[in-house]
Amino acid sequence: MPEDGLPLDWRRAALLLEKTLRERAGQAPERLDSATIASDYPSRDWIVAAWRISVVFSDGVTRQIDLVAGALFPTTPVRTALVDHPEPMTWPHVESDGILCLLPNMAEWDPDDPSEVAMDLLNRSVRLTEELLEGGTVERDFREEFVTYWGYRVHSQGENLFSLVAPQPPSRVVHVWRGKGLEVAGDDQDAIAKWVRNRFGDKTPVKTEAAAFLWLDAPLLPAEYPETATDLYRLAERLDGGAKMVLEEAAKGEPDEVLALLGAIGRGGAALIAVRAHNPKRRKGRPRAPDEPLSVGFRPGHTPQPLLLGRFFGAVPVVRTLVQRADADWVHGRGQDPRTRRLLGATVVVIGCGSVGAPVACALAQTGVGHLILVDPEALAWPNVGRHPLGAAAVGRNKAEALAERLQADFPHLKVEYRACSLHQLIARNKDQLAAADMIVAATGNWVAESALNRWHVRQGRGRPIVYGWTEAHACAGHAVAIGQGDGCLQCHIGRTGAPEITAVEWPDGGNIAQEEPACGAHYQPYGPVELAYVNAMIAEVALDCLLDPPAQSFSRVFVASPRRIASLGGQLTEGWRSAFGEVEEGVRTVNRRWPSARCVACGPKRLDEVA
Ligand SMILES: [Zn+2]
Repeated sequence: MPEDGLPLDWRRAALLLEKTLRERAGQAPERLDSATIASDYPSRDWIVAAWRISVVFSDGVTRQIDLVAGALFPTTPVRTALVDHPEPMTWPHVESDGILCLLPNMAEWDPDDPSEVAMDLLNRSVRLTEELLEGGTVERDFREEFVTYWGYRVHSQGENLFSLVAPQPPSRVVHVWRGKGLEVAGDDQDAIAKWVRNRFGDKTPVKTEAAAFLWLDAPLLPAEYPETATDLYRLAERLDGGAKMVLEEAAKGEPDEVLALLGAIGRGGAALIAVRAHNPKRRKGRPRAPDEPLSVGFRPGHTPQPLLLGRFFGAVPVVRTLVQRADADWVHGRGQDPRTRRLLGATVVVIGCGSVGAPVACALAQTGVGHLILVDPEALAWPNVGRHPLGAAAVGRNKAEALAERLQADFPHLKVEYRACSLHQLIARNKDQLAAADMIVAATGNWVAESALNRWHVRQGRGRPIVYGWTEAHACAGHAVAIGQGDGCLQCHIGRTGAPEITAVEWPDGGNIAQEEPACGAHYQPYGPVELAYVNAMIAEVALDCLLDPPAQSFSRVFVASPRRIASLGGQLTEGWRSAFGEVEEGVRTVNRRWPSARCVACGPKRLDEVA
């Protein structure tokens, strides 16, 4: 390999590596020439240098190990390869050219000490080879990482094969929708239809076919990978739980192909792979077009099943493929988040889809809240765009409608609805829906509306929590108030005109920083999206807390920006805040506060009930 083109750093590191190998491995490494590198590693044109050393293993056999480096060495570590490797897929962690997969442990790679890392890799390569020779780990590792090894032997990466199927036993008939360049498999036809229409629009035709889901008692070893349709059929025969009948059911209608999803438990939990068995009479690329269907010789639908199945699951090669899981558990936390199941069953109404409500609604969709109802009477305007998840494409559209449409298409497994109306109209028309929700988030910035919601809540007995969220000027502070069944109602600590009892930050102009547009009554508070992100994250956090663990007592959480940020804008912490919570040297802060009952006009003995 010509080193001339390689930087000085590279050459220095290479010299050091050679010296370390000489001293520590007790032999002068053989430097491979470029012809040998090209012939031994034909698919890795990134390799610019390789050193070969000999190792005597515990079985008395001397085997050679290569250390290979790319042009980015030493920033990128060397890799190791077992030169005398068995046939591909005989041993796990050994790629077909002998390169060893030790990379997951490379997280602590220290680029300042590349030869030390190379020695460590070499030692681990020797240990791995000894383990593989000993044999105990071979099957275990093939099974635990079965999706990876299946991936080495697939005909298709399955980029457009999406699965909504719950990856758990038993084997069962499932369904598949075949769209343009996309397939969606799911447990039931309704769920697939909902998903497809949420994703691609109401008018999408959704016709599904039967498919097979086969639950494997253990992940397949490479020797068990089906090559032909007969292999697939034999595999199903061998499995418990009626897998054979499931496969037969999927082939019964003589479809163009049978899709079989195979599920098993690997190291990271359940995973899916898939096999396609084509109808032998309809295979594309056959030299001669089929002149008869599998049912030849019988009236339609009267072919004896064993004969038909024998013909379908014959010696035709299958197509092995990977599968993209798109089920809710996978989307929301890769199947590892214990909260997902509870959130998927929850209904949340978000009232107000502005610069606070809309991001909170997005966060709730991302965490996997199964049913969202978004409410807002207003259209998105240009000055909203800079701090709203919707952009120019939604200007002029109702905020709730446009956001619901977006979230519904982005999370087709959730249900996202909208009401393009005010809170007053919502209370008048959709009381039952409000009462049935697991939680309500109110971020309207409108005290009159929210005090009406609070009175409704009190009348309802405050059975489910409401989280009210708002921001102070410049988003230097933000408030979330969660009203539970005990302690205060919203109004207990908010004056009759909507002024909260406690504010965190004050401004030299007396707090009246609301600026007016040159239009009647159009007040707004200037703040940017970055400051606001803290406030919205805090409000979303309170909402999530309340959903997962409904609070018995009302409480409030307050976010306060860093003193540096507040000072740079000319504000300061209020006396009330400082006496209650003290000064902070630096950094942002959140504080939890009680929200005790004040037996106010909304919740106390003298409460003035509205005439409903
Ligand atoms: Zn009250």
